[in-house]
Amino acid sequence: MVTTPRVGVLALQGDVREHARVLADLGARVTLVRRVSELAEVDGLVLPGGESSVIDKLSRAFDLRDPIRDAIAAGMPMYGTCAGLILLADRLADGISGQQTFGGLDVTVRRNAFGGQVESFETDLDVPELGGDPVHAAFIRAPLVEDVGPGATVLASLPDGGVVAVAQGDLLGTAFHPEVTGDDRFHRRFLANVAGRA
Ligand code: GLN
Repeated sequence: MVTTPRVGVLALQGDVREHARVLADLGARVTLVRRVSELAEVDGLVLPGGESSVIDKLSRAFDLRDPIRDAIAAGMPMYGTCAGLILLADRLADGISGQQTFGGLDVTVRRNAFGGQVESFETDLDVPELGGDPVHAAFIRAPLVEDVGPGATVLASLPDGGVVAVAQGDLLGTAFHPEVTGDDRFHRRFLANVAGRA
């Protein structure tokens, strides 16, 4: 039986609408998650780009931090872009004072790693796991994965070797934003992970 996946987009701050549109276009039923009761309705969660320190603070103010951590521990598929990748990292470099992450990916992520003059750029990335054409990737005040522990797998790197996409079980994280460049293959992978657990 084919069921429509029920997925959420964490809707505390950031580019929530862009993710919701890509997921809806792929046939998913999308819930914007601001409450624990909404988190309980979904089988997977997207953590959008935005400002990770703000999403961190709001997740605590909305009593979502522990439920999200519990969901990660229970194996709920998640996909984090940019700030969302930061939130999924076990270790954070250059966070603001007191900034926390949810964790789940055995990586160290550095915020605003491309700071200074070149804060935003676009490039084509080979992502062998997705097959086919390179992914056109937009980096917007993007983080970089500085260290990859044994639990995580590298999905994509920049030509200089900087890691920008990782996976661990049903968790996916990209330093860039496929939701703004019209490439839906990471979202398809996320939905496949959700379907695989249903
Ligand atoms: N620099 C932002 C942060 O630290 C991430 C930017 C983004 O999500 N586009 O959260």
